[in-house]
Amino acid sequence: MAEAVTEQAEIGVIGGSGFYSFLEDVTEIAVETPYGPPSDSLFLGEIAGRRVAFLPRHGRKHHLPPHRINYRANLWALRSLGVRQVLGPCAVGGLQPEHGPGTLLVPDQLVDRTKARTQTYYDGVQLPDGATPNVVHVSLADPYCPTGRGAALKAAHESGWEAVNGGTLVVVEGPRFSTRAESLWHRAQGWAVVGMTGHPEAVLARELELCYTSMTLVTDLDAGAETGEGVSHEEVLEVFAANVGRLRDVLFDAVGRLPATADRDCLCAGALAGMDPGFELP
Ligand SMILES: [Zn+2]
Repeated sequence: MAEAVTEQAEIGVIGGSGFYSFLEDVTEIAVETPYGPPSDSLFLGEIAGRRVAFLPRHGRKHHLPPHRINYRANLWALRSLGVRQVLGPCAVGGLQPEHGPGTLLVPDQLVDRTKARTQTYYDGVQLPDGATPNVVHVSLADPYCPTGRGAALKAAHESGWEAVNGGTLVVVEGPRFSTRAESLWHRAQGWAVVGMTGHPEAVLARELELCYTSMTLVTDLDAGAETGEGVSHEEVLEVFAANVGRLRDVLFDAVGRLPATADRDCLCAGALAGMDPGFELP
């Protein structure tokens, strides 16, 4: 059952229940934030001697579509428990024929094609404690943590599941899949994969000086990269189910390869250097 926030974690994983359901000694914690509740309780467990907080992105019953997820509450809740490094596994469509179902790709770039998502903490709106966020512009030139990416790639390599190193994740609003024209356009840009949840997770993490690493599992070829009937939800679920076990193995190994919080020396850790957020980070 949910408990008061007394437990801490150093690493966060935003992903489905398949990633933590079999862990022993999982503690469920309900966390409130100035932005309302996160997608669900946070589930704290231990992997490789590290305290990890799991957050089911779509809720444990998978009732939240991508455009209804409270991304601000999710990242805030993780940080408030002590989390400083976040791994964000997600299912995506492949935009290039060589990135077929079952491909693991660790993107290094992001394109935002969402339309109606709150994507900043720095909106000048007063928080419940009276503090008001300043106008702050963080750099997102390199949206993902280089250290986290390295850990994910190394973990995949060691498991014998060679991951694609780099590529652009384009994030669409959803919940519908892309039209053929949209998909062909994405493909023509040279972008690698398309998903619905990678944004604004990465930018919100950066705004809170969290490391964020995206790990994408290709579950289907998007409409512009295949010649059949287009993507079906059933097909996506099938491929995800077939790969979730090994994705979990890679994820857990990556957790053990992440540096201690105090040893972070990446750009993410200093994202707000010289800037005054106007409020105390959680
Ligand atoms: Zn980092």
